[in-house]
Amino acid sequence: MTTATATARHSRLYIDGQWCDADNGRTLGVINPATEEVVAEVAYGGRAEARRALEAAQRAMPAWMKQTAWERGKILKRTAELMRERADAIARTLTMEQGKPLAEAKAEVLHSADTFEWFAEEGKRAYGDVIPPSVAGKRHVTVKHPVGVVAAISPWNFPVTLQARKIAPALAAGCTIVCKPASQTPLCLIQVFECMVDAGLPAGVANLVVGPAQDIGDEFLENPICRKITFTGSTEVGKQIMRGCADQVKRVSLELGGHAPFIVFPDADPEIGAKIAVTGKFRNNGQVCIAPSRFYVHKDVQKKFTEAAVEFARALKLGNGLENGVEVGPMFEKKAMQQTLDLVEDARQRGAKILTGGKRSDRFDKGYFFEPTVLTNVSGEVRMMTEEPFAPVMPLLDFSRLDDVIQAANNTRYGLAAYVFTNDLTVAWRMAEGLEAGIIGINDPVPATPQCPFGGMKESGLGRELAHEGLEAYLETKYVSFKLRDS
Ligand code: NAP
Repeated sequence: MTTATATARHSRLYIDGQWCDADNGRTLGVINPATEEVVAEVAYGGRAEARRALEAAQRAMPAWMKQTAWERGKILKRTAELMRERADAIARTLTMEQGKPLAEAKAEVLHSADTFEWFAEEGKRAYGDVIPPSVAGKRHVTVKHPVGVVAAISPWNFPVTLQARKIAPALAAGCTIVCKPASQTPLCLIQVFECMVDAGLPAGVANLVVGPAQDIGDEFLENPICRKITFTGSTEVGKQIMRGCADQVKRVSLELGGHAPFIVFPDADPEIGAKIAVTGKFRNNGQVCIAPSRFYVHKDVQKKFTEAAVEFARALKLGNGLENGVEVGPMFEKKAMQQTLDLVEDARQRGAKILTGGKRSDRFDKGYFFEPTVLTNVSGEVRMMTEEPFAPVMPLLDFSRLDDVIQAANNTRYGLAAYVFTNDLTVAWRMAEGLEAGIIGINDPVPATPQCPFGGMKESGLGRELAHEGLEAYLETKYVSFKLRDS
């Protein structure tokens, strides 16, 4: 047996309260991107298993929604406690299947535990309204009602966090759920499911299916049991799902791609700005939807910022995320590393200058290690400026005027996150008001937290996760009107 399954009790699907294999016994090898070895074989189901999971969720729904939010909250809170107790083991699995350094993996698990706990409480605040009538003898109220059985699809870059943001609010709202993680990172979510089961989750309330995306996605779209799809992933797949949802007017929430600008103003210390920028950029190798990916630096501080950014990027310790002191792990897969090489080559051919990195690290025989890369002389037309890079590349650009940089920053189909580095309150407000992004970090490269809304404008998504909005996404508003007797 492999090292990761030594910490996870299962590598199987979880349907209707049972751990189970795929119907046809098929498994998929999960690859460690640092060693290219198979971490574990995971059960790999398909459409039939997804259908059974939806049916189980449908059966479980009446009893689950009848429980009080307080009762449901107890299970979510206990899940959070167990995740904290088991954080080291879950983080180790996460590092082995995804690549991020252990400290980042543990932070992801703890953040996700906080998300469970926060929604355990927020479920108690699914308030309706009492609305003053315009006609004597009438009374109007609204009450909240769970949307129904939910299907949750998530990518590989934050395999615990991105499901926690769906499972916790859906269950808190009284919905039941079928989760489909990315095929290559199911193991740490299986460990989260073990926490939910040990916390007392009733059979069918949350189900886990791993398998081919198209088959499972089609079942979610075509099966009327599924009343909502909550999807995190690429804008392209998100659009397909949105189109597919139209046929049954299924509710849909979309958390999609981003291309965040990071804007450095001259009033603040450029070296501190470079430190914040490098921290934000190379977290999880730039494979973060809200990662800063276009760096606009004011001309007055460009030289100092550039020198500092190159120095910090060069100093980052690259290696297997399980090793002490490693700050940047491997990229998630070979294809991602090749795409990064292509992006760098495209920029180089169009005149960009590579200040550090730009290639696969030659220090490793195995693994998808790419050197943290900083580039300058980057034109607006290069691919890494127009496509979401999702890579450890830091293209530096310059600007002089605030209005011009707002225009440049907004000149993209994405609108997920944006970052501003300044100590000038007026500049900060102007930027916050002018930038077209759902999440804006002012001197804050890591803004996500359970109690604040997370989501994008434009083609970066539809709806918000976390915060009060994150609960609302799993609730319908029912309006109830009473006509009283005259006497
Ligand atoms: P992806 O290809 O869209 O895959 C994401 C998930 O969708 C995976 O579980 C995948 O399954 C599944 N999937 C793929 N094709 C599908 C289909 N036709 N029907 C149903 N499900 C399907 O995304 P990715 O490239 O792996 O992930 C990176 C993207 O996610 C980036 O664009 C990033 O910005 C975005 N992202 C957004 C957020 C946010 O909160 N806004 C957060 C993180 C990442 P398989 O793994 O089995 O193929």
